[in-house]
Amino acid sequence: QRQIVLAERPNGEPTEKHLRLIEAERPLAGAHQMLLRTEFLSLDPYMRGRMSDAPSYAAPVEVGAVMVGGTVARVVTSQIKGFAPGDWVLSFNGWQEYAVSDGQGVTNLGQSPVHPSWALGILGMPGFTAWAGLTQIGAPKAGETIVVAAATGPVGATVGQIGKLLGCRVVGVAGGAEKCAYAVSELGFDHCIDHKAPDFAHQLNAACQDGIDVYFENVGGKVLDAVIPLLNPNARMPVCGLVSQYNATALPFGPDRMNWLMGQILRKKIKVQGFIIFDDFGHLYAEFAKAMNAWIEAGKIKYREEIIDGLENAPAAFIGLLKGENFGKRVIRVGQN
Ligand code: NDP
Repeated sequence: QRQIVLAERPNGEPTEKHLRLIEAERPLAGAHQMLLRTEFLSLDPYMRGRMSDAPSYAAPVEVGAVMVGGTVARVVTSQIKGFAPGDWVLSFNGWQEYAVSDGQGVTNLGQSPVHPSWALGILGMPGFTAWAGLTQIGAPKAGETIVVAAATGPVGATVGQIGKLLGCRVVGVAGGAEKCAYAVSELGFDHCIDHKAPDFAHQLNAACQDGIDVYFENVGGKVLDAVIPLLNPNARMPVCGLVSQYNATALPFGPDRMNWLMGQILRKKIKVQGFIIFDDFGHLYAEFAKAMNAWIEAGKIKYREEIIDGLENAPAAFIGLLKGENFGKRVIRVGQN
């Protein structure tokens, strides 16, 4: 079977030499196990963290080991009650065609889920991240202003759409005119500002005339710089991700603004709270799933996926994701040899 392993730890931006395609033996399932065939592999920004051995909330992938990742797979053979050949499952096979599982942490999606790959996006981890971070930490009230970057990605697009359903003003930030137009015309955001525009901070200010009550932090960097002065007293900042910094090798040059930032947090009484989705909110998953399924059935939430064929294309697709080359949730359709 084909696998993609971590060949070398990157220092800065990963390139294709850091991720290597290899051929390995297809595993055999034993007693109380099942063999899973990967159909879809999720590509997510957190995977950059797993390539590094810097201290984090989860262990790094070892050099030479298969890259980790959420997958939607089908059961090939099973000796586990509750899993039959042909069943679709949500699993954590990583970047490979086949995996053996004892069923731990695997969710059965049934014989014919309508959109199997959505379990990696809107109906899974990214959708849950958006819902929990916004409702549990952001706690927006109708009429408030929410700002979210990576606005057309699976987390940002969901944050913004839930914000609109809760009666808020939503201002997105995205890379490029096409993504911004989509956020407004398709997702229903009130505004979306292109962070590549030279007058980005000025445009954001103009779009947030009443200040910002909730800043759902996905990216850090210059978006965060532009947001801080616009935060209202008692603003909330769920800190979900800092994708603009994932390839950084050092702090940016410039004055140390740590104490200025702390002063803003103090004087404006801003709540800043980081979260790791399943560690902090796993107990709310069923509540999320119920709400999201209802919104999707009612056509109230839209979801955009970008499916790329072939496991061999996963490294380039992942490297591009960190640079904003994706437009929607990036998923690899694995396709076995
Ligand atoms: P996306 O599919 O939205 O991909 C990342 C996006 O980040 C890119 O498409 C790009 O969008 C944007 N981006 C990249 N570089 C920059 C930059 N320099 N400045 C501004 N934007 C940039 O990712 P997800 O929706 O899957 O994830 C969004 C965030 O949520 C990430 O930070 C991720 O790590 C985090 N996350 C955190 C979890 C948690 O438990 N805390 C769980 C899941 C996700 P554009 O072209 O629009 O700029």
